[in-house]
Amino acid sequence: RYSTAVALEEPIKPPVEVNYTKLLINGEFVNSASGKTFPTLDPRTGDVIAHVAEGDAEDINRAVAAARKAFDEGPWPKMTAYERSRVLLRFADLIDKHTDELAALETWDNGKPHAQAANIEVPMFSRLFRYYAGWADKIHGLTVQADGPYHVQTLHEPIGVAGQIIPWNFPLLMFAWKVGPALATGNSIVLKTAEQTPLSALYAAKLLHEAGLPEGVLNVISGFGPTAGAALASHMDVDKLAFTGSTATGKIVTELAGRSNLKPVTLELGGKSPFIVCEDANIDKAVETAHFALFFNQGQCCCAGSRTFVHEKVYDEFIEKSKARAMKRVVGDPFQKGVEQGPQIDLEQFEKVMNYIKSGVESGATIETGGARFGDKGYYIQPTVFSNVQDNMLIAKDEIFGPVQSILKFKDLSEVIKRSNATNYGLAAGVFTQNLDTANTLTRALRAGTIWINCFDVFDAAIPFGGYKMSGHGREKGVYSLNNYLQVKAVVTSLKNPAW
Ligand code: NAD
Repeated sequence: RYSTAVALEEPIKPPVEVNYTKLLINGEFVNSASGKTFPTLDPRTGDVIAHVAEGDAEDINRAVAAARKAFDEGPWPKMTAYERSRVLLRFADLIDKHTDELAALETWDNGKPHAQAANIEVPMFSRLFRYYAGWADKIHGLTVQADGPYHVQTLHEPIGVAGQIIPWNFPLLMFAWKVGPALATGNSIVLKTAEQTPLSALYAAKLLHEAGLPEGVLNVISGFGPTAGAALASHMDVDKLAFTGSTATGKIVTELAGRSNLKPVTLELGGKSPFIVCEDANIDKAVETAHFALFFNQGQCCCAGSRTFVHEKVYDEFIEKSKARAMKRVVGDPFQKGVEQGPQIDLEQFEKVMNYIKSGVESGATIETGGARFGDKGYYIQPTVFSNVQDNMLIAKDEIFGPVQSILKFKDLSEVIKRSNATNYGLAAGVFTQNLDTANTLTRALRAGTIWINCFDVFDAAIPFGGYKMSGHGREKGVYSLNNYLQVKAVVTSLKNPAW
């Protein structure tokens, strides 16, 4: 049922050494207080890449204390914004210089195609830091007109110690989305990486110190959610929490934040984004983009276009072409040239995706291609396309987070708007049409944080990203992300002689 694969023989040896496996606290790599470590695994085989220091509540306490000291005593928040900006620019240069190591670590730990890591994600990683470096010295308050003899101004100040929890699907980009705006605005940070992918963040944090970041400003804790993550979310001395991951965990960390010191929380959570192909769409382009929207990064994208709605008039043609495209998708060792799809991140996700495929079959959807494991080791899954998907099937409702495309049929615009919005999620949507009125109608009617018209997954440092409904709140990237890390202080000064 699935035609293209690169034979899996011995996994290719990654072109990088793992040099940083400890926790980064107060500018130093240290063991965890408990002395415990955990293995980080190669998704191609399930073999251990390295044993990494396992941080828990005590390490979070040490890291928060270091971040607090760095914030309260400086120099970071007290440096000129221009000096902070220069640190970030030097960091961006170092990222570019070390693209090979960063990309190799990202592919090894995560399983994503090496070309994707090296040509898209690492360049985007440095781009994001240059973008935020540009903001550092352009943050300022307002002069406000008030009724009365007062001079009123606002100061935009850093919020303090930011706790940041990131997932495993884009380890470096999630690092940048969180750390970039927090540093540009003068905060200090405790970053908890995902237990599946701790390696690239440690390497990047080392480069950031080489670029001149003072000790204690960024602390990186590898470890698990219910221990290290929960300790960070509930810490009384953390002033702000930013989280990306599942909606279920988003609810937990929001509760922990509320029960402790009511720290404000920004959340970037799951999605079940509609991808709408209208009857007048350029079908070949829509097929290719819908394929990319779903299968990119092994389907492990929060904004994946995972409900492909196709107008009935072009449905059969779309199915045939989507099936042919998926059958051509090249699966194999992510270090191999030409491979488009590597393994899923871990056994848990692999099993979860396989169970959704089973559920799709049981609920009566038609498998056009794929549907099975690829190879016999590691966590590879064949690119899978389901047709005849109905809205009430689990594969049309849940976030699968894998290479499984669900294609649904629709008749008219108002119907597809209702069906697209009939979800608790609201992260993104794709629209394919050549009609301006259709595009404008859908843009306004769809309840989602990003609408891509005749394109998908266009990410840019300046474009804000975030969710409606249970896909989260707050926006990352762009100018909007700065507010997540700023306090506004109103300063009211009585005027001695208002008439003057
Ligand atoms: P998760 O939400 O459990 O993990 C994300 C981060 O939260 C990790 O760093 C994890 O250690 C941490 N975490 C987990 N439990 C925590 C807790 N109790 N307190 C504090 N932090 C905690 O996600 P997952 O288990 O890795 O993946 C599950 C599902 O989440 C996926 O199948 C997918 O649907 C979704 N997901 C979404 C994104 C996204 O970008 N929005 C990313 C990864 C996973």
